[in-house]
Amino acid sequence: MKAIVLAGLLLAACGREREAAPPEIPVGNGKMQLLAPGVFAEPGLSEADHRTLLQAHATAAAKVKEYFGEPHKGLPLALFCHSAMCKVTFGAPPAAAASPDLGFARDGFVNPKGFVTTPVVVATGPVPNTALILTHELVHAEMKAWVPYDALPTWFMEGIATFIADEPNCSAASAVSVFDVRQLDTKEKWQAHLRTGRVTLSTYCHARNEAARWAGKFGDKTSAGSAIRAVCQAVARGESFDQLTSQ
Ligand SMILES: [Zn+2]
Repeated sequence: MKAIVLAGLLLAACGREREAAPPEIPVGNGKMQLLAPGVFAEPGLSEADHRTLLQAHATAAAKVKEYFGEPHKGLPLALFCHSAMCKVTFGAPPAAAASPDLGFARDGFVNPKGFVTTPVVVATGPVPNTALILTHELVHAEMKAWVPYDALPTWFMEGIATFIADEPNCSAASAVSVFDVRQLDTKEKWQAHLRTGRVTLSTYCHARNEAARWAGKFGDKTSAGSAIRAVCQAVARGESFDQLTSQ
């Protein structure tokens, strides 16, 4: 109980600190523009863009809350990038940075004093899918608040994020495959499979279908969210993912 109270106090303190002094986050020759506490946009966007991004942020945060309730460690910093340069600054591979679908989560950002360790999600925006891209990344961030990304099978991490966010959109994905996506249980295997070509959407969607099949056993969104969190907590304690999810 003391630990919970202490964690709450620390979170409150961090929240106050963020309000008092928003971090300086350099990008290009300038810095990310603060739109709201914890929400930043690449400089040069219009007022209308800012309103769109804040709405996307609210939509994404609300969607994740439907499953998980209040974020375990608070929301990560949200960085909206419109240009490839901005996304590369925060760690996107240059070959993928121009993609309008790109989002990713990081453990911090670089400022002139060095690396600042804090959960960060980067989403392309504004684009039509910005809220969904951000939702996918916020699901990763919430699960990573409980257990390191690599401690869970990659197909499960990606499948759950794709299932909750509906991003990427699976309505156009090929439905039939004999391939068992559960083989892709490490980031290395997942990325190697994606590099075989033309399988990115179908792989995400097969992972989504597997995750949805499992999560569907728990009924509503709150119950599914609790079950996901329980798996994260149990794996963090050293329990076997396969045993936890085979029941
Ligand atoms: Zn993902």
